[in-house]
Amino acid sequence: MNIAICGGTGFIGQALTEHLLRRGHDVTVISRNHAPEEQTGARRLTWDQIKAEPELLEGTGAIVNLAGASLNQRWTPKAKRSIMDSRLTTVLAVAKLVQALREKPAVVVQGSAVAVYGTSLTETFDEDSPSHVVDFPSSVVKEWEDAADEISGVRLIKLRTGVVLGNGGGAFPLMKLPYMLGFGGRIGNGKQWVPWIHLHDIVRLIEYCITQPDISGPVNATAPEPVTNSMFGQTVGQVYRRPHWFPVPSFMMKAVLGELSLMLLKGQRVIPEKLLTHGFRFEYPTLRQALQDLKEH
Ligand code: NDP
Repeated sequence: MNIAICGGTGFIGQALTEHLLRRGHDVTVISRNHAPEEQTGARRLTWDQIKAEPELLEGTGAIVNLAGASLNQRWTPKAKRSIMDSRLTTVLAVAKLVQALREKPAVVVQGSAVAVYGTSLTETFDEDSPSHVVDFPSSVVKEWEDAADEISGVRLIKLRTGVVLGNGGGAFPLMKLPYMLGFGGRIGNGKQWVPWIHLHDIVRLIEYCITQPDISGPVNATAPEPVTNSMFGQTVGQVYRRPHWFPVPSFMMKAVLGELSLMLLKGQRVIPEKLLTHGFRFEYPTLRQALQDLKEH
């Protein structure tokens, strides 16, 4: 199948590109920047090119949109605007592209995040849970998902992603760092939930969503066994054989990271109900299995 990946140069996008190419698909990466033909064998187009000549993507069977400015930066007013605007602009560009294509793709997998559910220590969220705007991340994701409704005439998936664990990017190298330095420990009171997923499983489940015609709407891209921050840290300590003893109080996280500390101090217990009901098999259903793999590779 011809698959276009917007934001295919990012942490998840690169892994997805490699996975889909290995699986025999043709991949076009859509980026803000020109680049020579990807060494991996993916075609590369810019947003400007597809805006001017949408027909370049005629024959595309699926579009995956992972584009957006990273949340892992200090949330200054300027950064907040960029985080929000980059998502709305790219979603609306995808909606226009779909409209312009003579032959519509069968499916659009639109990036989203578990922050849409808000945060809670006690509730469990599945795809039927309502969205709940409580802070900056939840307001971004709500607007992002609402904008995605402009994508019409195709099967639309909203990929509500948890913390993606991989070695080459994302949050995990930073989460692991204090443990490698011997200062690992819970953050805040450690009771906040961490809805995580192994990078390998998220790219597998994106392909699964593309190829299963009866999956649509919100899909929680999280492992079936979420853990609390304390459990997360203890497991990192056990797998990497490092101590888990140095608690970092909330006020210190707030002083160092500002509002971004919310991402570590608050969380939500999210279950991938739709994928489990559908029979998707996670290769790394438990955190211990995921971390063992990341340690070995
Ligand atoms: P990355 O930050 O690694 O990549 C996102 C891509 O978006 C970049 O490669 C870049 O592509 C493009 N991009 C960056 N800034 C802008 C901008 N201002 N305007 C337009 N495009 C921009 O993200 P991930 O791969 O980690 O995540 C993919 C999506 O999934 C993101 O939207 C993220 O919010 C979401 N997500 C990720 C999680 C994670 O743990 N990684 C957790 C929950 C959600 P280029 O430079 O080629 O244009």
